[in-house]
Amino acid sequence: MQAAPLFSGQPRQTGTHISCKNCHAQLRVIRACKEVYLFCDTCGEKFPLTDYTEFLDQLENFISNIPLDRI
Ligand SMILES: [Zn+2]
Repeated sequence: MQAAPLFSGQPRQTGTHISCKNCHAQLRVIRACKEVYLFCDTCGEKFPLTDYTEFLDQLENFISNIPLDRI
């Protein structure tokens, strides 16, 4: 039986090896309810995945591997 959807609607995130276009720090990928985007902790910039289409395969892997029980 699947767990109750306690986390549905909650953002999930993980680190990536993708460099920020502004400051070259490593971005985090954040999965919100119906949106996935990249965020830079260093400069605070937020990027749509369309800015990093060359990394989409990698991001799909990250997203599908985000554990449900830890963020
Ligand atoms: Zn940055």
